[in-house]
Amino acid sequence: MWYNNILETIGNTPLVKLNKITKEIPATILAKIESTNPGNSIKDRMAVKMIEDAEKAGLLKPGGTIIEGTSGNTGMGLAMAAVIKGYKCIFTTTDKQSKEKFDALRAFGAEVIVCPTNVEPEDPRSYYSVSSRLVRETPNSWKPNQYDNLSNTQAHYEQTGPEIWEQTEGKVTHLVVGVGTGGTICGAGKFLKEKNPNIKVWGIDSYGSVFKKYKETGIFDKDEIYPYVTEGIGEDFLPGNVDFDIIDYFEKVTDKDAALMTREIALQEGIFVGNSAGAAVAGVLQLKDQLKEDDVVVIVFHDHGSRYMGKMFNEDWLKEMGYLD
Ligand code: PMP
Repeated sequence: MWYNNILETIGNTPLVKLNKITKEIPATILAKIESTNPGNSIKDRMAVKMIEDAEKAGLLKPGGTIIEGTSGNTGMGLAMAAVIKGYKCIFTTTDKQSKEKFDALRAFGAEVIVCPTNVEPEDPRSYYSVSSRLVRETPNSWKPNQYDNLSNTQAHYEQTGPEIWEQTEGKVTHLVVGVGTGGTICGAGKFLKEKNPNIKVWGIDSYGSVFKKYKETGIFDKDEIYPYVTEGIGEDFLPGNVDFDIIDYFEKVTDKDAALMTREIALQEGIFVGNSAGAAVAGVLQLKDQLKEDDVVVIVFHDHGSRYMGKMFNEDWLKEMGYLD
C-alpha cells in the first residue's frame, strides 16, 4: 500500500497521553502531535486546503506564484504543496523567526524575504506590507492570506476536530490550543462544540498580544502590544479566523515559561516539539485548579522541535535570555 504523493500523508496524527509533565493535574491530558505531518507542523493541513479552495475558485492558476507572509510553518506546507502542484513560492517573514525555518523553506525552492519585526503591520517594511506589494507587482500571483482566509479554519473543522472527537471516543472535555491565526482553535473548537456544547475551548496567548484583553473587554488595546519571544502564537491585530465566540477563555504564558516548558516536554515525555506546545502545557498547568479527575484535555502540539535548535534547545540562547541560572 502506498500514497500517491507526500500530501496524502497529511493528518491522522497521533494522540499521546502525557504521563509526567502534567502529573499534578488530576485529569487525563492528551497531546495531539502535529509534528508528525510531513512538513513537521499542523499547518500542512490548512496550506493544502487554502490552495485547493483557491484552485476551485479560479484564484490560483497553473504556473502561478504563491506569495505569503508566514512565520515558517504555513510556508513549509505551502512550499511542499507547491512542489507537488507546480507553483512558485515567495515568502516574507520576520527577523524574529528561527533561521532553521527560512532554510527549510528554501530547501523546497521557495524565495524567502526577511523583514523587520518591530514595525507596525501598516508600515511598508512590515512582512504584511511587503507581501501585499509583491502580489500587486507579480503577474499570475495569489496571496493565501492565512489570517483572514476561512479555508484555514475549515481545514481544522473538517480534519483536526473530527480526529480529536474520534480518538477520544467523544470523551474530550477541554481543547487547549495556542492561538495565532486562530484557524486551529476555531475550526477544531467549532466542530467539537457542535458535537458537545459543554466542551471548553481554551486559547493560549502570549504577553505582548491583544487576544486576551479583547476577549475579556471587547477593547482592542494597543498598550497590550509589545515585542515578545514566543513563536507562532499571539498577534498585534485581530485575524478573521479568530472567532471569539468559539474560544471560552484565553490564558497568557510568559516567554520564559513557554521556553522552559518546551524543553521539559522533551526531557520528561520524550516528545520533541516546538515553542507553542511548551506555552500550551504551561498554560494548562496555570489552569490546573479548574480541572477534575474525569476531564479529558486535548492540547495541540503544533510543530517539531528541530525548528528551535537555535533557541530553547540551545543553552547559550537560554542563558543570554536570562532563562537559566
Ligand atoms: N504554533 C505554531 C508553532 C504555529 O506556527 C502557529 C501558527 N501561527 C500556531 C501555533 C497557531 O496556530 P493557528 O495559526 O492555527 O492559530
